[in-house]
Amino acid sequence: MTKINPNFQLLANNYLFAETASRKKKFQLAHPEAKLIPMGIGDVTLPVFPSVVAAMQKAVAEMGRAETMRGYAPEQGYDFLREKIAGEAYQKRGLAITADEIFISDGAKSDCSNILDLFDGNNKIALCDPIYPVYMDTAILTGRREQLVFLPCMEENGFWPDIPKEKVDLIWICSPNNPTGCAATREQLRPWVDYALKNDAVILFDGAYEAFITRPEVPHSIYEIPGAEKCAIEFRSFSKTAGFTGVRCAYTVFPKTLVKDGAVLRDLWFRRQSTKFNGVSYIVQRGAEAVFSEDGQQEQEAAIGYYLENARIARLILEPLGLVACGGEDSPYTWIRLPKGMDSWSAFDLLLEKVHVVTTPGAGFGRCGEGYLRITAFGNPEDTAEACRRIAELLSRYGKA
Ligand code: PLP
Repeated sequence: MTKINPNFQLLANNYLFAETASRKKKFQLAHPEAKLIPMGIGDVTLPVFPSVVAAMQKAVAEMGRAETMRGYAPEQGYDFLREKIAGEAYQKRGLAITADEIFISDGAKSDCSNILDLFDGNNKIALCDPIYPVYMDTAILTGRREQLVFLPCMEENGFWPDIPKEKVDLIWICSPNNPTGCAATREQLRPWVDYALKNDAVILFDGAYEAFITRPEVPHSIYEIPGAEKCAIEFRSFSKTAGFTGVRCAYTVFPKTLVKDGAVLRDLWFRRQSTKFNGVSYIVQRGAEAVFSEDGQQEQEAAIGYYLENARIARLILEPLGLVACGGEDSPYTWIRLPKGMDSWSAFDLLLEKVHVVTTPGAGFGRCGEGYLRITAFGNPEDTAEACRRIAELLSRYGKA
């Protein structure tokens, strides 16, 4: 008899966003007249930048001519894109990352789950709670549930995890954070790098929201912390930074100085990618390259500015009521503190049914997310303001947060 992977049974029944979408759909079917304001799922809404569209159109035309068509892309990504990233995203910031340490992929989500291929199943994995569900679910799917060590991120520690007392081998850090919106300063990151170096651990640093950073004390890359090049892998994505959620392109950085158990992790990842991955399309990589052009950078700045303005509007409305726990500053996410005693799925249902605002319940991101909601800034300013007024009005009826 064919047996399935038993670990599927250990996962929560539904992926968080599938569950919120299903509740939303059910409500919409029962109330077709209701105009819902989406403040939940973290997807971008502005169109793909004109410079990116033009670059992709040009690449499509190249693919249609015998002299310029391309077949399989290199597994690691085209040199033109890796060199652009190394120069623009790292060397310009004084970081010595080179093109051969960068791997292009179709998304940070795939890389964040595939990365576990490199590590022994007995490694202890530290995760923040609440957390972007992908890190946890992929660990569970690969039989690592017992290896997970949760690090609570709560009001008391400013939503930034304390260094674990026990020894861990892999450490997930996401900054700016999804879901709390907390963005770690150099002072907050340094002890983690020191811990990793001392304990021979590896930091898996997810910088998917790097472009939202505004405060100078928040580093854009983990490699700004001395020593991180010996203990950290960095994940980046064009999804939220350049509106690529539907285009699909990301990259992961493996400094060659990152050596564990006698192996250069960069070389292991190259071997892994060559085996399981056949590259990102030429068209998409040309589009990603265009993000670093002068026009692309201006378009990116305008788009991020637009979303951050939404976040500012949300804070302006929600903060005076004590509803903002974290975020909304260097991040598209604001972490909303619920009135005492209100659980996050009840708040989700209440806001959906009574005021037609769709949010994301904090409990869906982990036990410590209970009592919170995540709202996003990926809407437009009018809807954001309207949704926040409705959230503020409804929640304030239920007492103090
Ligand atoms: N990492 C974090 C923290 C995210 O929130 C997301 C998407 O929401 C991703 C990674 C996935 O990004 P991508 O679209 O590149 O797969």
